[in-house]
Amino acid sequence: MKRILSCLIAISIAASLCSCSSDSNSRKLRITVLDVGQGDGIVLQSPSGHVVVIDGGPGPKEDEPGKSTAGDEVVVPFLQHEGIGTVDVMVLTHPHEDHVTGLLAVLHSERVLSVLDGTVVPLPTEHYKEFLTTILDDNIPYRKVRRGTEINLQDGVTLDCLSPPPTGLPFGADLSNSTINNYSAVFRVNYGSTRILLDGDAQQEAEDNMLNAYGPGFLKADVLKTGHHGSRNASSAEWLDVVRPTFAVISCGRHNLFGHPNKETLDRLSAIRARTFRTDQDGAVTIISDGSSVSVTSFLGRGG
Ligand SMILES: [Zn+2]
Repeated sequence: MKRILSCLIAISIAASLCSCSSDSNSRKLRITVLDVGQGDGIVLQSPSGHVVVIDGGPGPKEDEPGKSTAGDEVVVPFLQHEGIGTVDVMVLTHPHEDHVTGLLAVLHSERVLSVLDGTVVPLPTEHYKEFLTTILDDNIPYRKVRRGTEINLQDGVTLDCLSPPPTGLPFGADLSNSTINNYSAVFRVNYGSTRILLDGDAQQEAEDNMLNAYGPGFLKADVLKTGHHGSRNASSAEWLDVVRPTFAVISCGRHNLFGHPNKETLDRLSAIRARTFRTDQDGAVTIISDGSSVSVTSFLGRGG
């Protein structure tokens, strides 16, 4: 299965139209955590121009039905601004609305070469069903993504999937928010000696499971995109003590109803001296790696 998947992705990438740029970022990896409001929408651009989109942000607010989604307003305009017409790999970390909805706009406006889906317990929602039927209708190669899957972008950048676990239902089979969150796909992005951990909406149970599955050296990262929008139930002290990121990025919406990020989580991040960026305060946050060092800049001006 793993070999089939790696093969599929390698073939897809070889066939893609490379949107390589000749600017100073041409040998750099760029990961942009977009300001999609209360959700996640992340675009990875590899040194040779391969593109991975991980989640697409939420739909319109409940009091604004009919308004366009974060995909229409943020993710697709960003891809167009970057001159990206082809997405090599689209990833859905888990089927919650604040991750899947914006991906529909990307599917409808971009050429998407392959889709990886972290979903373990399917949600019977309209948008997740539309996601699956669009992929089927457009004949896009589709696979589930599990621990052990590797995405190789063939230019020095690889993504290791660390979660969800490959077998079993260690977090239960119910449709509660925390169960669905814990099955979220988590990736370690590798470029040269640099490591960037993208935690999706993983909460403490998933963090503990990864701590048991991997040694501490493997989980050490330069940057952590924190799990579940900075909620109290993610980014545990044990997890942060092993990951020890120099930078942390929290994707959350201004004045969100959930109180994200939680003060306890922010305190835990400051206790390990992580320099923390928040999309609600900093706008889009861009992580740049040249393979030996990492820098982080934000749309509203902070950097480090
Ligand atoms: Zn979420």
